[in-house]
Amino acid sequence: MEYDVLVIGAGPNGLTAAAYLQKAGFRVAVLERLPETGGGMVTQEICGFKLNHHATYMLLGELMPPYKDLELEKWGVKFIRPEKQMAFLFKNGKTLMLYSDPQKSAESISQFSEKDAEKFKKMWAEFKEMFDKFLLPATYLPPLDPVEQTEKLQKSDELGKKIAEISEMTPLEVLNSYDFQDPHVRAALLYITTMFGLEPDEIIGFLVPIYVLRVLNSALVKGGTHHLASSLRRVVEFSGGHVITTAYVKKVILEDGKAVGVELEDGTQLRAKAIISTLNPEQNFKELLGDLGGEIGEELKDVAERWEWERLSLFISHRGIIGKKPMYPKYGEDISEFLNVVMGYESEEDVLEHIKNCTEGKIEIKGHGSCLSVFDPLLVPSHVPYGEHHLLRWEMRAPYEIKENGTKIWLHEVKKEVAKKCFEFWAEYSPDIAESTVIVEISWSPLDIENHTLTMKRGSIKHGAYTSLQMGYNRPSPECSSYRTPIEGFYLGGASTHPGGMVILGPGYNVAKVVCEDLGGEWKWEEIPSIKEAKQRGYL
Ligand SMILES: Cc1cc2nc3c(=O)[nH]c(=O)nc-3n(C[C@H](O)[C@H](O)[C@H](O)COP(=O)(O)OP(=O)(O)OC[C@H]3O[C@@H](n4cnc5c(N)ncnc54)[C@H](O)[C@@H]3O)c2cc1C
Repeated sequence: MEYDVLVIGAGPNGLTAAAYLQKAGFRVAVLERLPETGGGMVTQEICGFKLNHHATYMLLGELMPPYKDLELEKWGVKFIRPEKQMAFLFKNGKTLMLYSDPQKSAESISQFSEKDAEKFKKMWAEFKEMFDKFLLPATYLPPLDPVEQTEKLQKSDELGKKIAEISEMTPLEVLNSYDFQDPHVRAALLYITTMFGLEPDEIIGFLVPIYVLRVLNSALVKGGTHHLASSLRRVVEFSGGHVITTAYVKKVILEDGKAVGVELEDGTQLRAKAIISTLNPEQNFKELLGDLGGEIGEELKDVAERWEWERLSLFISHRGIIGKKPMYPKYGEDISEFLNVVMGYESEEDVLEHIKNCTEGKIEIKGHGSCLSVFDPLLVPSHVPYGEHHLLRWEMRAPYEIKENGTKIWLHEVKKEVAKKCFEFWAEYSPDIAESTVIVEISWSPLDIENHTLTMKRGSIKHGAYTSLQMGYNRPSPECSSYRTPIEGFYLGGASTHPGGMVILGPGYNVAKVVCEDLGGEWKWEEIPSIKEAKQRGYL
């Protein structure tokens, strides 16, 4: 079978790349080892409840170029973005409430400290400018060499200089530079920054504005995250592309050092002018390309061997219940209207301690709970003969290997025990939880995450750690970060390339543009306006 482009992996990035390239007029096939597409965009329907086992909170939503370019709204993608985003509950009965509206967040912060409220407003305004003018446009362009990037920023204007400055700082240093005084406020901001696995002491400070701003603008995909995957798949197929599931790609076929096709596990061979892999560096450079030998082979093997996985992963537990939505009597009625309710952190030290403990393999029950059905009734059975139904979702950091009295792995019994503790802990804040009738309970551990995708080794949800040596131009290595690799015809476009993981569709968008150019196609879509403006300002 002959195609123009083969895409390995039907996660958010693979489907995005395939959709653009098929619409650009190429003949495209996506190859996915699982019977269903989506990768990290899983929604499992079980007994009428729709469980988002992986990605749940969409950070960029409508700001992602594919949303407009591929007309995803027409395919039914709707984002639900509550204004009430995160409530932090503290032991003294106080609550810190954070909204997508910074003014309202500042009002809540002022109960803790008037000065911190002012600092928050200042920080938000600065972060928003950095995000709008540089960080968002830089997401949808190939990364620049770090020396060139720094020079450009430093030569530009005050904002550019500030971005260059925070890029040399750690997340903790960036937050400290605003000098928040109240321990609760500090805890909340550090939690938001690190909840998706950012390390507080890595030199990746430029990510803080993205995470603070976007986590507080989180949206759900109506009907479950998988709906975004099915819409992208429909774009591919309705434009004439193929999506081939249950197709495990075993190797890339090389002829005269050039990638010309792939071989599946069952021996089927497919040929194409370009192969895009959205898998992780170990899969790409050790499994798919095999032993290449020579200088290039050694270089690529070295990238795979040096690749660092994230030190922490996530544990998710869902309960489909008959009962009322969780209320928080000690904390006020409207807490149940917040998308995420965070419990267990009284200070920044608690957040740091949790990270440290997980890194050492210890499970500590702290995290955030969400009653997703409050925001999207489609997530629970619509026929409700026995009363109100709700879907509870607990999410917390967790180690891949549990090291308590020896090393344990995440067997069924371990997950059940941990989930029980999580819901008991949540019930300390919301006693209703203990009263509800459980219809379904399913948990996903770091091991399940790895088993489900294979790309997220050791539960690494972003296909690899965010360190200064693994971001931007270095993701996954300087030779491969332009999405082209030293192997002609072999391209990369998954979360282990710039801008990295999460459902932001950046790698898929960027690689599609590069492949379109290399195959002599016409890119029909306009760049987002902020790219042109960032170039005019000299940032990019
Ligand atoms: C528990 C959890 C919670 C998360 N929460 C969020 C969140 O709230 N918000 C957010 O934005 N992101 C979240 N993420 C992260 C996000 O899901 C990932 O970063 C994202 O899915 C990466 O996209 P990708 O397309 O690069 O790769 P993936 O989604 O990993 O897709 C890769 C695909 O390749 C397939 N594959 C693997 N090997 C082969 C092979 N040999 N042949 C063929 N196919 C193969 C896999 O089956 C998979 O479908 C979460 C992830 C997890 C696990």
